Amino acid sequence: MASYDLIVIGSGPGGYVCAIRAAQLGLKTAVVEKRATFGGTCLNIGCIPSKALLHASELYEEAGHTFSKMGIGVAPKLDLKGMMAFKDRGVDGNVKGVDFLLKKNKIDAVRGTARIAAPGQVEVTGEDGKVQTLEARSIVIATGSDVARLKGIEIDEQRIVSSTGALSLPQVPKHLLVVGAGVIGLELGSVWRRLGAQVTVVEFLDGVLPGMDGEVRRQAQRLFEKQGMTFKLSSKVTAVDTSGKRLKASVEPAKGGTPETIEADVVLVSIGRVPYTDGLGLKEAGVALDERGRVAVDSHYATSVPGIWAIGDVIAGPMLAHKAEDEGVAVAEILAGQAGHVNYDAIPNVVYTYPEIAVVGKSEEELKSAGIAYNVGKFPMTANGRAKVNMTTEGFVKILADATTDRVLGVHLVCADAGNMIAEAVLAMEFGASAEDIARTCHAHPTLPEAVKEAAMAVAKRAIHM
Ligand SMILES: Cc1cc2nc3c(=O)[nH]c(=O)nc-3n(C[C@H](O)[C@H](O)[C@H](O)COP(=O)(O)OP(=O)(O)OC[C@H]3O[C@@H](n4cnc5c(N)ncnc54)[C@H](O)[C@@H]3O)c2cc1C
Repeated sequence: MASYDLIVIGSGPGGYVCAIRAAQLGLKTAVVEKRATFGGTCLNIGCIPSKALLHASELYEEAGHTFSKMGIGVAPKLDLKGMMAFKDRGVDGNVKGVDFLLKKNKIDAVRGTARIAAPGQVEVTGEDGKVQTLEARSIVIATGSDVARLKGIEIDEQRIVSSTGALSLPQVPKHLLVVGAGVIGLELGSVWRRLGAQVTVVEFLDGVLPGMDGEVRRQAQRLFEKQGMTFKLSSKVTAVDTSGKRLKASVEPAKGGTPETIEADVVLVSIGRVPYTDGLGLKEAGVALDERGRVAVDSHYATSVPGIWAIGDVIAGPMLAHKAEDEGVAVAEILAGQAGHVNYDAIPNVVYTYPEIAVVGKSEEELKSAGIAYNVGKFPMTANGRAKVNMTTEGFVKILADATTDRVLGVHLVCADAGNMIAEAVLAMEFGASAEDIARTCHAHPTLPEAVKEAAMAVAKRAIHM
């Protein structure tokens, strides 16, 4: 029986990063993956393919609508097959990269479905049905998450799709009905709208991007509406009739009431994701789950069974690749006797639409409900020189700082390139910076991040360009 210091179940950003860090620290490590390729949801059917399509479709839209304003004359023609091939090449390059890194770090990659047979024992069933048992001092569960489903609405990945099907539609739907105005619905809705679909988004709650800062949510919705998306808020899809050529979705008020029928060619169900623990044998092994089906862990990622740990989407916290990665590093360091740690107050969250939305830390609503007094510094992108010349003046930067100490408590960006710009705010928060620290940091001109500096100056009511 092969024996290891550590077996990681799942090779997503949580699992493969954990394995690499463990190997760096001298632990003999194996990763078990049931999918044909490494990289988990993120690389295969999540972050990477969605960002490829967002990038390509954004350029397509720019070529059609913005290039002429810059003196560039082109008439773009969509080659959807070519765009999908571009996306697939991007995925292929990334999953091969993980393969390379596992080999480089001398990690044993085992293909098959893992089940925890007992603490310290993992049974792996290969595609051919052959079963092998591996032994380890520690096991890390990094099995990620799966699509959340709507009762009575069956996802066939052809006409009623999850994010996975929406990443590979063979043609642009005339009308795409998106169920759920969260990150995935807005990102993939944006892709297909840019490529020519009429997009209607039905959301149970009364606004887009539930959980984010209220001002960000309102501004984002206005901008998406301006781009042509339609929102039906405080509404729910209760059924989809698939019998005809077109889908007929029954939509009714969230609180109940008279339903209306909305016809669509494709329905995207994007109401969230649920932890994935199927077939792992957790009940038999005695590993406790929480009330939402996530593997319950303590602050050191230890489950209820000694020697079994868990990280990533399968445990509590934001379902984000970088959160899973950081937990992977932390648990590997803990297993190697070090003090692994994740700062959950400084985890950025990005929506890769146009404009992008990127946030870190607390929203105004959170600060109010916690009774924390704060100052607000806000700077509109219309006043940023680079945004003006680039014609990307939508949105703003907002910094929330403690009213007494000036420490930065939250940063909210709605603007082009916000996903890259948020890094500076995360670093500032990690180092416990004050708004004045950011305001006194020299920012290159002309750049979009100057808006972050101006917002920081605006906290003390001394913005220059406003
Ligand atoms: C469309 C979409 C877009 C997204 N975009 C972003 C983004 O831009 N940024 C971001 O941060 N996050 C994004 N996410 C979320 C991100 O993909 C997840 O947070 C991340 O993948 C979680 O990593 P993980 O390692 O916990 O799990 P996963 O990536 O889900 O990996 C788990 C792996 O475990 C394997 N596995 C499960 N059970 C077993 C078993 N019993 N035996 C062997 N293997 C098993 C699975 O096959 C899978 O490969 C997106 C998700 C989706 C769906």
